[in-house]
Amino acid sequence: MFTESSLIQNLRQAGLRLTPQRVAICHLLVGNTEHPSAQQIYDQLRPEYPSLSLTTVYNTLDALVALGAIQNLGNDVSGTIRYDAETSPHANLICTSCNRIIDFHSPHVQALTNEVNDQSGYQIAGARVLYYGLCAECQQLTQPNL
Ligand SMILES: [Zn+2]
Repeated sequence: MFTESSLIQNLRQAGLRLTPQRVAICHLLVGNTEHPSAQQIYDQLRPEYPSLSLTTVYNTLDALVALGAIQNLGNDVSGTIRYDAETSPHANLICTSCNRIIDFHSPHVQALTNEVNDQSGYQIAGARVLYYGLCAECQQLTQPNL
């Protein structure tokens, strides 16, 4: 997990101007375990930053992804791209009903990454390990009442 100041440092290195909006996006991402979409970030910050545009949110997220400071998790089941501020090797679990995404830490993820790195001939820059299924809460909701 990057700190807020290291995210800001990354943006500066990418040549982006450090506007209060961009700093606020970094602030929102650090320690965030919700795996937000660009739209969710925009909706959360808009009340405090009325001049914020969705384009700025996307540009900032794209820059941070390109720098390896955050991870693009790909689309959730509604087709929305979600982002993860946790960049250490771990798996993600996505609920196909409520779209919740959680982190799953296991030393096996790092071991698998090492194995792929050693045996594929690729220089691995990152990994996206995503499991799909019903979370515990949604399983209860879909269970028939007996
Ligand atoms: Zn769920």
